[in-house]
Amino acid sequence: MTLFDRAKKVIPGGVNSPVRAFGSVHMDPIFFNKAKGCHLYSTDGKEYIDYICSWGPMILGHGREDLVKKAQGYLDEVLTLGLPSDVEVTMAETFTRATKTDMVRMVNSGTEATMSAIRLARGYTGRNKIIKFEGCYHGHSDGLLVKSGSGTLTYYAPTSLGVPQGTIQDTIVCRYNDLADVREKFDQFKDQIACIIIEPIAGNMGVVIPDKEFLQGLRRLCDDNKALLIFDEVITGFRTRYGSVGDYFDVKADLYTYGKIIGGGLPVGAFAGSREIMEKLSPLGGVYQAGTLSGNPLAMKIGLDTLKVLEAHPEIYEKLDRFAYELDQGFSKNLSDLGIPGKVTRFHSMLSLFFGEFDQIKSFDDVQKADTELYAKYFQGMVKEGFIMAPAQFEAIFLSDAHTEDIIEKTIQANRRVLEDIC
Ligand code: PLP
Repeated sequence: MTLFDRAKKVIPGGVNSPVRAFGSVHMDPIFFNKAKGCHLYSTDGKEYIDYICSWGPMILGHGREDLVKKAQGYLDEVLTLGLPSDVEVTMAETFTRATKTDMVRMVNSGTEATMSAIRLARGYTGRNKIIKFEGCYHGHSDGLLVKSGSGTLTYYAPTSLGVPQGTIQDTIVCRYNDLADVREKFDQFKDQIACIIIEPIAGNMGVVIPDKEFLQGLRRLCDDNKALLIFDEVITGFRTRYGSVGDYFDVKADLYTYGKIIGGGLPVGAFAGSREIMEKLSPLGGVYQAGTLSGNPLAMKIGLDTLKVLEAHPEIYEKLDRFAYELDQGFSKNLSDLGIPGKVTRFHSMLSLFFGEFDQIKSFDDVQKADTELYAKYFQGMVKEGFIMAPAQFEAIFLSDAHTEDIIEKTIQANRRVLEDIC
């Protein structure tokens, strides 16, 4: 019996998170048991180049020797306390300095971070409704699974079963990059909107880049209507620069959510903001939020080590930008040489390849025009070539410091061979 057969008997769909099932690219999932640098090793003895990087966290590559050595030492110290620890304080100091926030609360996942930030925004403003954007994914809490992105798009459940009607009614969904739509909703639901939550660079409908005026306009609308602006930086945080991507647009949010990279590969999320808002949290204020493993010492130490490397080596970001630019140029040239309609979207080192005819890619409506069947063939072809790209059209690919110039070149060559084969 294969591992997948065994898995299907005891885990729904054989996977612990839907995108791992490779369903939309018409493959069975591949099971892995080892990763090193930018290489993944499957249980059937094959080696692949990793462009998923655990969906973002492994920005320094897998099993970086100095970090592994340190992590091994931590095992002798403490795993979990459920009590305050020194490293939580150091993490909070490092994190708030990097993100230009006053205070942070650590949690165990991006889902917890966004769910808690929304509760805090509601508690702070005394309002119930929230605005989110079509195609953005913010984890799997009820109110955020309405017209959502990522695996929910891939598996045809942008609004999940099991989300109560009342919750759906409190989630107002707007079009990404459409400020007039948001303005209209503020007029329609005057004094009822607690917050806007947005991926400041959308990564969960593939990479979609906001207009600067759009993000700045959201800031103004929130100020005018006394609502909070939440930047969900679970993907973008520390991915393209050390800290928040909001700085590229000169926009500050009221609350930020982070995850992925700040855990260095362990389950960590965080939400952060001004002292005034954050002090509404329990035990100081009436907004309750808690976690047995929150601020787990091992996760904090391993996350801090990743942040320290990124802070000390800004050239890592330059390298990732350069590699992503080369992939962008290479993939785009291949498409154009072969006369295949398609478009690469890229923000620094966040990148997606869409197949189809596009005037622009600025919203969920635009990305829906993508040819997902061709993408499935492309993904399968790249797997045969030994590359694990995003296993769905509506995801970004991720690079790490362990990728090399040679690997980037090989990826572009493989991309060309696969495109020649499938078109
Ligand atoms: N927010 C964004 C932007 C994400 O991309 C994700 C996950 O990919 C989440 C929130 C949820 O994070 P997690 O999967 O850690 O719960």
